[in-house]
Amino acid sequence: MSEIDKVLSYNKAFVADKAYEPYVTDKYPARKLAVLTCMDTRLTELLPKALGLRNGDAKIIKNAGGLVISPTDSAIRSLLVAIYELGVQEIMVVHHSSCGACHMHYEEFRPLMRERGISDEAIATFGATCDLEKWLDGFHDTEASVRRTVAAIREHPLVPQDVVILGFIIDSVTGALTEV
Ligand code: ZN
Repeated sequence: MSEIDKVLSYNKAFVADKAYEPYVTDKYPARKLAVLTCMDTRLTELLPKALGLRNGDAKIIKNAGGLVISPTDSAIRSLLVAIYELGVQEIMVVHHSSCGACHMHYEEFRPLMRERGISDEAIATFGATCDLEKWLDGFHDTEASVRRTVAAIREHPLVPQDVVILGFIIDSVTGALTEV
């Protein structure tokens, strides 16, 4: 049984048992808060629990590292929707200790892509549309990365000045937040 099959079978029981009932809410974040963070699996349950966030409280936006790479990337797009459509007034950028995106290098992706059957031609063609070295590179200093991400949101021309934006590092084990 694949993991997806297991998920589908669990899901049938979840709905049949009405296990969704404690989570019913609407699309507006009750606490007018958005959190931009990493997709790391250590944070899946830990982050909302450590921050005291329940279903319906906050928009949680995730990607590898919790980064904003460019002014048009999907994290910014999500934050703009959160601000203008959903009433978000405060944003927390939360990176975490020993993040997988730390020390990630594009050069390490290339041989892995080749092994999985991606041709040099495909890499070159896609590379012409985007700076792969920058796009697939990680960061090397978590604090600096939080500061850069906060600045990228703060300085974005479409983000209103009255939105509060703060940066933090969360401990991937204890959940302790440290403001940057
Ligand atoms: Zn991470």
